[in-house]
Amino acid sequence: MELSHRDITYCKNVGSKRADILRSELNVRTAMDMLRVYPYKYIDRSRFYRIADLDDEDTFVQIIGEVTEWHTIGIGKAQRLSATFFDGTHQCELVWFRGVQYVRLQKGVKYLLFGKPSVFNHTFNFVHPELTPWNKVTSEMTSGLEPYYNTTERMKHINLNSKAIRSIITELLPDLKMGVPDTLGAEVLQKYHLMSLTDSLINVHFPPNAQSMQNARARLKFEELFYIQLHILRQMKRRELHEGFAMPVVGPRFHGLYEALPFDLTNAQKRVIREIHADLKSGHQMNRLLQGDVGSGKTLVALLCCLLAVDNGYQTCIMAPTEILANQHYETLKQFLAPLGDKIHVGLLTGSTTKKQREPIHEGLRNGQVNILIGTHALLEDEVQWQNLGLVIIDEQHRFGVAQRAKLWNKNTMPPHILVMTATPIPRTLAMTVYGDLHVSIIDELPPGRKPVHTVHYSLERRAQVYSFVRQQIEQGRQVYVVYPLIKENEKLDLQDLENGYNELRETFPDFNISMVHGQMKAADKDLQMQRFISGETQILVATTVIEVGVNVPNASVMIIANAERFGLSQLHQLRGRVGRGADQSYCLLLTRVELTKDVRKRMDIMVATNDGFRIAEADLELRGAGDLEGTRQSGMPFDLHIANLATDGQLLSLAREAAGDILNADPQLQSPQNQIYKRQLDLLRITNQENWSEIS
Ligand code: ADP
Ligand code: MG
Repeated sequence: MELSHRDITYCKNVGSKRADILRSELNVRTAMDMLRVYPYKYIDRSRFYRIADLDDEDTFVQIIGEVTEWHTIGIGKAQRLSATFFDGTHQCELVWFRGVQYVRLQKGVKYLLFGKPSVFNHTFNFVHPELTPWNKVTSEMTSGLEPYYNTTERMKHINLNSKAIRSIITELLPDLKMGVPDTLGAEVLQKYHLMSLTDSLINVHFPPNAQSMQNARARLKFEELFYIQLHILRQMKRRELHEGFAMPVVGPRFHGLYEALPFDLTNAQKRVIREIHADLKSGHQMNRLLQGDVGSGKTLVALLCCLLAVDNGYQTCIMAPTEILANQHYETLKQFLAPLGDKIHVGLLTGSTTKKQREPIHEGLRNGQVNILIGTHALLEDEVQWQNLGLVIIDEQHRFGVAQRAKLWNKNTMPPHILVMTATPIPRTLAMTVYGDLHVSIIDELPPGRKPVHTVHYSLERRAQVYSFVRQQIEQGRQVYVVYPLIKENEKLDLQDLENGYNELRETFPDFNISMVHGQMKAADKDLQMQRFISGETQILVATTVIEVGVNVPNASVMIIANAERFGLSQLHQLRGRVGRGADQSYCLLLTRVELTKDVRKRMDIMVATNDGFRIAEADLELRGAGDLEGTRQSGMPFDLHIANLATDGQLLSLAREAAGDILNADPQLQSPQNQIYKRQLDLLRITNQENWSEIS
């Protein structure tokens, strides 16, 4: 029977109990599914180390040597065995906490030591190593790369560990060698020099050497990325056929604002407006992603696009991720639009808009009086009905998924044009996957005269120095942000930190006024506090990350980030983007505790080294790795990644996108006989990834 039809329960070394766990933990139902569980790492058993060469704590190594001395400490269950291992020149420690009575050691015998070193008391330690007398070492044990498979707690509980998985897969090898149907066509395999599926499955589980392992993995990664691209590009193609509102006119409101602007648009701003306008007048629905670093002037671009739509007789909305930001957009837009007088009507709708305030807004939207509506997710509510919604702008921070975008569709007979703006640049690989169904415009230029923010990293011990700098800045007329993290799991403690910080600042600066803003406050209080800071009445704003996105107070020139170790890179960059908006030199001070992990140290170093949002976004993806990309799933990744890594496989991703694009260009509906293989596989993937992604967008 074909491996893809063989129930995992009846495979050797499995049985019903293991099959249940394999199903629930790894989604493995068939023998083929089992073969698609790939090793997460390999240990090179053909390489032997010397103790003097050990420098890394985290990888498994093997060493040849003797046990020179050992002793047990404690009795009964608390007994532990400690031994000294000598490789001829250096020694290390071996430790057993469990099963001490089963460990048999002999002096004068050559052993093969296998384990993971850790440093303790300045020597390398191996806890529970494998110790095999050299005359029992088989050539298989030391001949190649040994695969390791991820296991979960529930799997370990029934002894379904990496070795057990390996033994199940080993039993499937003879049948696998008979050959399995490929999931990529011969042309693609040839053009991109890829291994067949059969060979790559054999080599990913039983690699004879590093080169074949890498070739096998490259093929499997390519396949994974290819199907994501095929899926995304097919959606995109289908949508390009959708009709969209045609907005050919560049009218009086657009020109009115353009001519009243106190500054020139940057070339990058002009270019993206042209790109967007080309979409708007094309007669097809626009789906575009606008990327630009903090402070690059996206808001103004958004507003000008709204005016293009309004001049063509359509309504528009701008949706922000937080209430504070929606309020701020509303204020900014009203200021910009002042020269247009009553030629334009802007409304604001958020969670805290009262019922009474809502009625006239709802009415204005229905009868077409309101031209631009600013708001939060409240815009998506069913009561919000439009006369003629033509353009939706989403100012997001990775928070607004494909599914929600789709909700806006029901707001009109035809889908409105959609422009998604990201507050943080997105690495190229993410743009091609998570946002892969959108066309991309990039503002790669800041308005002239901006001075790069000067960033310094301080440990908490040097707080006094930071405070004296703050005093000096405020005395020169500047304003200062102090931001604390607010992470959901730790909300209570975080708020306590914030309040302690606030109190400390009040004691340190009795002569200054201080605002405090956090998410637990009533909207009206928050607003009042923000307004006091914006108007300059308060000199210091103590806040949680609610101010992360969008807030714009040009006179604020110092951003202090407390507990900076708890923020991710892109968040730190966003926060830093709140300063450097005026003519003065601005500063970002990152405060952390003294002892730092490698990871935190790297993040701080990158922040100090560069102001370039794109570089920071790439570094962020690299540091967080694929693990954290789970979270991006909701925002639009069609299938989970099992082997490809968006942080490191950018090149394969580009090739996979090219391959998928070529196939769809030649055969958009995948109708030709040789493309049936792709159609079938896509359907299969959609069924196994039951999320109803295909219905969206
Ligand atoms: P973003 O949303 O991209 O972070 P903003 O739209 O908030 O940036 O713009 C930052 C500041 O720059 C605002 O005060 C805005 O008015 C101003 N600005 C925008 N475009 C220009 C320009 N071309 N020249 C000068 N200042 C500009
Ligand atoms: Mg903005």
